[in-house]
Amino acid sequence: MIYLIRFIFTAFFVMCFYSCKSQSAAEVYKNEQTVISDTAFVNLKEYSVDFVYDMKYATTDNFLKAKVYDCAECYLRLKTVKALIAANIEFIEKGYRIKLFDCYRPLAIQKRMWKIVPNPQYVADPAKGSIHNRGGAVDITLVDKNGKELDMGTPFDFFGAEAGHNYANLPKKIKNNRKFLKKIMDKHHFKALDSEWWHYNLQSALKDKVANTKWDCE
Ligand SMILES: [Zn+2]
Repeated sequence: MIYLIRFIFTAFFVMCFYSCKSQSAAEVYKNEQTVISDTAFVNLKEYSVDFVYDMKYATTDNFLKAKVYDCAECYLRLKTVKALIAANIEFIEKGYRIKLFDCYRPLAIQKRMWKIVPNPQYVADPAKGSIHNRGGAVDITLVDKNGKELDMGTPFDFFGAEAGHNYANLPKKIKNNRKFLKKIMDKHHFKALDSEWWHYNLQSALKDKVANTKWDCE
């Protein structure tokens, strides 16, 4: 009899332990969902340490020859971060990783760029805004295990036909590098821009609002 009572108590305790535990895990998940929405702006480096950064507009090494960001940070909407991390995991499995040149671009920065180069061929008109202003675009390339960039045929922000995905007069190796980048990005819902091999738009971000959220520089 005493064994039966002990068994009932133990069974009750075990059941309670697991149900309480799973309940609290569900609550935490729910809280995370309510605290950070998929469209919130977050800093990529707080979600992954596996990216390489070369934020060109935080330096003068860009076509504007002007430093338009106060500091180099890669902010994006959370859904963009999630999709980008998923793509990077796949690149890492194959021996490569993503190197970032630009991420979310506040509208005020877009206006500054437009002021320097008011040419829609090179800079999106701030009156319309770009997907960078919506937190859904990234400018990227791939690096190998030694951090060496894959040859994509032109530098980042090269404004000419050679930078286009459909430019035929390129060595096969370069075409394959571009295709490799495009194939995996496409799989993770990023669409390429025909004229710039480095630019990718998260499809679900196309209709998000243009933003002017800024980040703190320490
Ligand atoms: Zn871009």
